[in-house]
Amino acid sequence: LPAARDLAPRFPLTVNPSPADEETYRAVMDRLSFGVDFTDHMARATWTVDAGWQGHRVEAYAPLTLSPAAAVLHYAQEVFEGLKAYRHADGSVWTFRPGFNAARMNTSANRLALPELPEEDFVASLAALVAADDRWVPSTPGSSLYLRPFMFATEAFLGVRSAHEVEYLAIASPVGPYFVEGFQPVGIWVSEDHHRAGAGGMGAAKTGGNYAASLLPQQQAAEKGFAQVCFLDAATNTYLEELGGMNVVIVDADGTVRTPSLTGTILQGGTRGAILELLRGAGREVREETIYLEELRRQIRSGQVAEMFACGTAAVITPIGRLAGADWDVVVADGDPGPVTRELYTELTDIQYGLRPDTHDWMYRL
Ligand code: PMP
Repeated sequence: LPAARDLAPRFPLTVNPSPADEETYRAVMDRLSFGVDFTDHMARATWTVDAGWQGHRVEAYAPLTLSPAAAVLHYAQEVFEGLKAYRHADGSVWTFRPGFNAARMNTSANRLALPELPEEDFVASLAALVAADDRWVPSTPGSSLYLRPFMFATEAFLGVRSAHEVEYLAIASPVGPYFVEGFQPVGIWVSEDHHRAGAGGMGAAKTGGNYAASLLPQQQAAEKGFAQVCFLDAATNTYLEELGGMNVVIVDADGTVRTPSLTGTILQGGTRGAILELLRGAGREVREETIYLEELRRQIRSGQVAEMFACGTAAVITPIGRLAGADWDVVVADGDPGPVTRELYTELTDIQYGLRPDTHDWMYRL
């Protein structure tokens, strides 16, 4: 990728909004919750079937004007991405594998019959946004600026076909450390009666519909006291796919690491990919394979499974201490985060915050 300072001018700053006042800014940066507060600007471009992408710009963060007939509101033709900008000790701001997210957004866009955005424009939009909103990149430990690029059908047309007008935006939200009370293992509810995706569907795309499908089971699991839902495959209801917003990884007592393979029904996580690379680089055996629930339960009970965790951009790594379903409930090892889980969390976040050499060339200076 070209340097950010060369890409950013592709999204010129068209308006200089009156920035949030000092008091609002201070309040936001002191509370740093997830996805609640947003920066002063947003990056934007418009696509039409006739003219392609145009109007690349950075403007004031503000509500959108949208036709009530906009296709996205009716047929959910939209995709999104999620990545973070990290402040390093010298004040510079970096992001993690933006090329991966750019490519994944295009994979998602293809599935939703949306136009591809050139990868360099994707990165350019983030470079321009972060340049305009530099003061919103927090510097307290574990904090970051969460970047949310997304694309949706704006055409005012109720016919069911792919829209001829599409909007791309990138917004940003300063976020604090995910684990406010430290590295806490969570309980996961395995949903045996709801699925998020099926073969040939949209499971591998990062599109709102998949998350909409996960909300009811997620709500039901929360009512039972579980933090997240793990979905099983829709065809046989027998093997693990992923959580509503994270991939799942198992560490066996013999050191082997296993994770569900990319079957087309789960999202290819960037965190998952980086973790597998770190583990393989350290000489560990890593298997991407089918993980049957029945077998896994047995292996957890017998002690064959030493650690289990979920991974994704927001929390990086979430230790899983307990797994339960309709008529069963198991504790993973002793329920505490294991050494591999802890080491991976430290290794990955150290790279992201510039505390260890980036030997994989994952970091990109914004
Ligand atoms: N699966 C789903 C369904 C997700 O929403 C996410 C978060 N993007 C992930 C997995 C993890 O992906 P990543 O590591 O790229 O954040």
